[in-house]
Amino acid sequence: MNVLDQVTNVRGYAKYLGLDPTNRSVLRKIQRQCERGELPAKLDEGAWKIKLPHADKGEFIMKNWESLKEIYHDEMVLIHAGYGNDKNYGLNNDKISQFYVNQVSARKPTKHFAVTWDFNEFKNSEAAGTFEWPTPHAALLINDEQKQQLVDYFSGSSFIAYGRRLKFNDMSLTILNRPVEFVGVAGSLRYYAGAVDADGNAYKVFWNIFNIFDPVEIAMTVDNSRYCKRCLTRWTDDADTTKCKHEWVQDTE
Ligand SMILES: [Zn+2]
Repeated sequence: MNVLDQVTNVRGYAKYLGLDPTNRSVLRKIQRQCERGELPAKLDEGAWKIKLPHADKGEFIMKNWESLKEIYHDEMVLIHAGYGNDKNYGLNNDKISQFYVNQVSARKPTKHFAVTWDFNEFKNSEAAGTFEWPTPHAALLINDEQKQQLVDYFSGSSFIAYGRRLKFNDMSLTILNRPVEFVGVAGSLRYYAGAVDADGNAYKVFWNIFNIFDPVEIAMTVDNSRYCKRCLTRWTDDADTTKCKHEWVQDTE
């Protein structure tokens, strides 16, 4: 179900906020926000139905070989949960932030993180031809009819010859050209190249650059385990303090 279409009740809304749905003062405050028209809610047979707002921190993307590695941070396992809201966007600083959420058992409040990579050094060393490419993350076998075409293509003048030998799943691959950026997907940085093995098979090989380097910064952006006891806002790194002088408390659940 699309989160956009989701409607919930007062308890469900408390959970959505990361608050204890059995805490009466929390429920009363949500009810009062409904009554005052501060939430997209309407009465349905005496109970408030509240429309959940659109997820505001990052969109979810499919997990596959292109997906980003887990990050270990402060005894937490952070899972990649999408991209978006990247403060580096448009700055051309070769930094990219990704949206991560800590792994918690069901119904425990989560924390959100902006995990930032800096690709400046990688791009410089690759441009200088000194970057040593590690084992690829994926290899796609090319069928016999197309393999000569692939070898010719990646050996052509639009690529820089490489010739590095690397192991991939027990195969010894020779990477034909210095890898180049592969079609961009938002939040991704992928490269690919042509390769051949000792038996004359041809491959396209792929790297996810995020999974080669460690991030340079991990910043918490949302803490669903803390909220303001005056206005019930979840703790965020950019909380608006003009309307409420927030008093953050830990959720006791
Ligand atoms: Zn507040």
